[in-house]
Amino acid sequence: MTVISLDKPQNLESVMNDITIRYSGPPTVRRSYMYEFLVHCPKCGHCATVTTEQSCDTSSDKLICQHCNHIEKKENLVRYNATVKRNCDNCGKLIDVTIPNNKKKIEELTLACSYCGQVRTYTPKHDIYGLIYKGTGACDPIFHLPLWFQTEIKGETFWAYNRLHLTEIRSYVSAKLRERQTTTHTTMVERLPNFIKAAKNRATIIKAIDKLLKK
Ligand SMILES: [Zn+2]
Ligand SMILES: [Zn+2]
Repeated sequence: MTVISLDKPQNLESVMNDITIRYSGPPTVRRSYMYEFLVHCPKCGHCATVTTEQSCDTSSDKLICQHCNHIEKKENLVRYNATVKRNCDNCGKLIDVTIPNNKKKIEELTLACSYCGQVRTYTPKHDIYGLIYKGTGACDPIFHLPLWFQTEIKGETFWAYNRLHLTEIRSYVSAKLRERQTTTHTTMVERLPNFIKAAKNRATIIKAIDKLLKK
């Protein structure tokens, strides 16, 4: 804690300098920033926003592009493989049928045994999976689209999820004094890769961040 003594105004400037070089950001973890991701729109390539409730229920997770008005919902990317695997009750041979890539669960499946022709209606079992994009580089965890804020720095990929995440990294990198904000957990900034935290890279990283912020 720095105490500013008002009866010694000549010290004020040096004290203020000390404050500006001290990192005093919030003791947040990376997940705190994972509610929003700026990505390259899969339709037009401009900046689009992915938002998530960060819960098991992904039905409200979506992508919105302000540039081309493209909207995509995570729930529309859910697919089911429906499988019937059992022995025919007439001839005893194995029936093993999978109908892949269904947008909805199939309640009932009527099949003819390929050995004896016996027709029966079965209740299939379902495997659920999600279709995702095959973005390269650093991607968002919901749609797997390339993050908007990413750049190469000295052969390493520097990235951030969103503007707040990027500015928080910037204030940490620009601070010369980095005190621990909490002892209960390791914060987002403390977990940053070493090339970002290295003092020798400070100027390069800040320059790269400022360029990204103007993007
Ligand atoms: Zn777009
Ligand atoms: Zn049969």
